[in-house]
Amino acid sequence: YMGVTQFQATDARRAFPCFDEPGVKAKFNVTLGRKNTDDWTTLSNMDAIAEGVPHETLDGYVWDKYAVSVDMSTYLVAFCVSQFQSKTSNTNDKFKVWARSDMIGRTEFAANEGAKILKFFEEYFEIDYPLPKMDMLALTDFSAGAMENWGMITYREEYLLYDPTGRTTSASLLQRIIYIIAHELSHQWFGNLVTPKWWTDLWLNEGFASYVEYLGSQESRKDWKWMQLFIVSEVQDVMRVDSLESSHPIYQEVFNPDQIKELFDRISYGKGEKKRATIIRMMNNYLTEATFKKGLISYLKDKSFSNAETEDLWRYLDVAAHDDKSLPDDLSVSQIMNTWTGLTGFPVVTLTRDPKQNTATLTQARFFLQQSSRDQSSEQWFIPINFNAAIDDFNRTSASHWLRPNTPLTLTDKDLASSSLDSWIPDPAKNNWVIVNAQETGYYRVNYDATNWAMIQAQLEADHTKISTENRAQILDDAFNLARAGIISYPTALGLTKYLAKEQEFIPWRATANALAYIDKMLERSAGYGYFREYMKTLLNGGLVEFEKLEDIKPEYIDDATQLYKNVLIQGRACKYNVGKCKRDASAQYKKWMTNYNEALPDNTIISPNVKYIVYCYGVANGGEEEWNHAWRHYTKTNLASEKTEMLYAMACTEEVWLLSKFLGMTFNKNSTVRSQDVARVFGSIARSVIGRSLAFEYLLNNFVYLKENFSVGISAMGSFITPFSTFNTPAEAARMRAFKEEYKNDLGSGARAVDQAIESIEINAQWMAKHEATLTQWLKEQTGHGST
Ligand SMILES: [Zn+2]
Repeated sequence: YMGVTQFQATDARRAFPCFDEPGVKAKFNVTLGRKNTDDWTTLSNMDAIAEGVPHETLDGYVWDKYAVSVDMSTYLVAFCVSQFQSKTSNTNDKFKVWARSDMIGRTEFAANEGAKILKFFEEYFEIDYPLPKMDMLALTDFSAGAMENWGMITYREEYLLYDPTGRTTSASLLQRIIYIIAHELSHQWFGNLVTPKWWTDLWLNEGFASYVEYLGSQESRKDWKWMQLFIVSEVQDVMRVDSLESSHPIYQEVFNPDQIKELFDRISYGKGEKKRATIIRMMNNYLTEATFKKGLISYLKDKSFSNAETEDLWRYLDVAAHDDKSLPDDLSVSQIMNTWTGLTGFPVVTLTRDPKQNTATLTQARFFLQQSSRDQSSEQWFIPINFNAAIDDFNRTSASHWLRPNTPLTLTDKDLASSSLDSWIPDPAKNNWVIVNAQETGYYRVNYDATNWAMIQAQLEADHTKISTENRAQILDDAFNLARAGIISYPTALGLTKYLAKEQEFIPWRATANALAYIDKMLERSAGYGYFREYMKTLLNGGLVEFEKLEDIKPEYIDDATQLYKNVLIQGRACKYNVGKCKRDASAQYKKWMTNYNEALPDNTIISPNVKYIVYCYGVANGGEEEWNHAWRHYTKTNLASEKTEMLYAMACTEEVWLLSKFLGMTFNKNSTVRSQDVARVFGSIARSVIGRSLAFEYLLNNFVYLKENFSVGISAMGSFITPFSTFNTPAEAARMRAFKEEYKNDLGSGARAVDQAIESIEINAQWMAKHEATLTQWLKEQTGHGST
């Protein structure tokens, strides 16, 4: 048993009377009572100064008294009474990790790596960690992921504890553990030492921590290519959402506790945090690292133990920028950043070379994934520009030029000085391509004239390593999204994938896989799908490696997780498109696991955590009733929530429709063992599969009232029964969804919005099919050697 506090944002007032706002700081005197036995401990922000002081009236209870705190905001006060045990870091005896006793073996990693990262931030911010000690707690039940209480950080158990054998924690979970620890530790300065005056500026707090967590993470695993991972998991991920019409600006004013709560909900579950982190990384790069740190450190030093607003940080950075000449005289940090935080979405920059004048012109417009005629957006940004025209130029990420609102930028001969181009005239003989936005540090997409796209493709095929890994991922992601938006043609985007069989790095693969997922979804029921699959086979063949087994988790993965991620990604696609021995290996591992299954020890695994989802899914897909039943058995036996989730996904992988039907029946049953929080997940994964989609849609039509009455808990639940059908793509399916809306228009409740969105998506998909299916199929047909007839 344990008791622990969580005060952010407005709950300290429920524990003690206070001015409960971040802008008011005070010193706190904490005294905690507990049972007078050795196994009980208390913790708070500061060190204990007296322990076990007898309680005045209660027999068997004592007080622990804590040192008076530094000046701090109420939301960061914390205390805990528990029977936890602790592990002290091997480099810092004031740094401890606490957990329940049976998990104590998994605390060592966080204790040692956490202390390292804390030291990194002391050096990075040039300010010593301001408190005398650090305790990090693994909580068995915690609705937030983690909370940065000063000197007493709380985490959900799964985000802090690491299995030192590596047999149950996957590399991607380890990655997550590292950057959540780094995130919370960075808040000890940015947020705790210097605190926003009001919650409206929370974005800065969270955005900043979500960026520097990557810098801190590098300290723990130096060769994991964290900034490459940032590009695919943050930049490109948020761009997908931020290019929809329904997007929102970062900066939102809040006034009352309900709005503040909503702000946190959006941050936890939305993509907001990723965008914030992305524009802070952009600023770090256009100002240069030296200037960024200089401004930041003077801000933190001046505002220590006090409060600040976003504009304060901009001012400090502005002084540093103009001191260092990192910005033109007539531009300020605030002017630039206000466009990125205040406007919705992000721009696409178009570079067009003019051979007659020997110039290149850059223009900007807001990027929409689906441009509807309603949108006449006039939003314009201050955009940092740098361009690369040759080998090894990709490390210059500062701004050589600025593209300003409503002012096209024309580059002439004198701008070539810093590049190795001798002319703006595209010369196919020399293959003199230009690439804008080095390492995708700017939060925007880039489009080029057709000649330049062709030269980029030629370079990729001739020697792709002359373009940086980060920019290869950028080019692929940009091109496919530009094609989907109808700005460039699909053959232009697809042409860029031809070199991919030679690609050895993870992030270009990740970017392409994300882009091709949409095409796959659209084509999966069409006559041309065979060509698509064949094309995928030729790409994947280049990257195939041995299927990972638990006994051969390779030590080099410890040095570079991206290599592991690449292998796992390719392995997963290889099973999907039936390349190599993937399906056979996955089935064999599943069968072996099934044969040796011990119900008394259901989580004694023989499958590597990194490929678990592949083995489970394809084990079930290639198997029949017996394999499916085994998945259900493991679902009911396992003690791990993560395993239960895996099994729910795996059972939806079966290729037998009757088993899916049985699965639906077992799930939507009032006495079902599937917890109600998971029923939408089951429905969604069946509805998203090519085999299950019609079945799920029929089920929805036939059981709508029953589902609504029994399973629509929470605001989004009804919507999550509808959203999976947004990938339908025929006019007939759009009509069926409209008929569904008509029939249940009085019962849809919270699902009404989802139905409208689904109808809109289906119509957009149908238009996409009409516009692109034939061109795409033709291109794929030619590439796979089936000629043009
Ligand atoms: Zn945070």
